[in-house]
Amino acid sequence: MTRLATPSIIACPHCQQLAVKKGVSSFSTGGLTRWSDGYASSWLGGTLFTRCWSCHGVFWLEDAAYVGDMPYETQKRPGWFARLFGANEPPEISENWRRAFPIEPPDIDAIVVGIETMSRDVTKAMEQRHRRLLWWKLNDRDRSERRAVHSVSRAIIDTHEENNLLRLLELSIDEGAPTIETVEILRELGRFDESRLVLERVDQNTTGLEIIAKKIAVKDSRVCVIQESDYLRSNMLGGDNGQEDKEFKG
Ligand SMILES: [Zn+2]
Repeated sequence: MTRLATPSIIACPHCQQLAVKKGVSSFSTGGLTRWSDGYASSWLGGTLFTRCWSCHGVFWLEDAAYVGDMPYETQKRPGWFARLFGANEPPEISENWRRAFPIEPPDIDAIVVGIETMSRDVTKAMEQRHRRLLWWKLNDRDRSERRAVHSVSRAIIDTHEENNLLRLLELSIDEGAPTIETVEILRELGRFDESRLVLERVDQNTTGLEIIAKKIAVKDSRVCVIQESDYLRSNMLGGDNGQEDKEFKG
């Protein structure tokens, strides 16, 4: 089950508009479609970077001043019936806090600004998490159910797609033991021979390895589904998404 930690209030570093940052303390693993690039359909991992709802400036959450924690009770006002039987009224919070905007995952333009303005102090782990967002957004073009809603400018693709993958490759190699991510990046870069060699050194029980090996063999560099839960298959995909099912089965 997805559970949210206490939301905190932060201030946009550009205009001081308040924003609510919901911390995810755990997330559901039910109903997942997992993709070869690590993207999962119900992924709720913490956002590092966002666009201000008020001034449209983009900022790293780390750079935003922490203002306080939103009391849990303010999030849901008890109904009249509950109040009649003594349920507490929510504590008063200031108008500013009430108008705080919820932090949304960044759109692709904001992610690109994040990469272009990344400070030298950013840790490798944070850079990696941020670059994965761009990788996933760009790969959305090949996630069939989303193809229609995601248009990405040619300029972003030309300037960032390959460079982003090359930097992610460096970061994943830095991690030490070869991972399925290293295999996948090399495959998506079209470096199939290297990808196959690294794949042989990855833990052979890794989910999706067999599917990725087949894609390497036919020199297919597009992102692909590596795992679907039965829940998702029976409840959401229904009968009209045969193409994706077929692709998954290889
Ligand atoms: Zn702002």
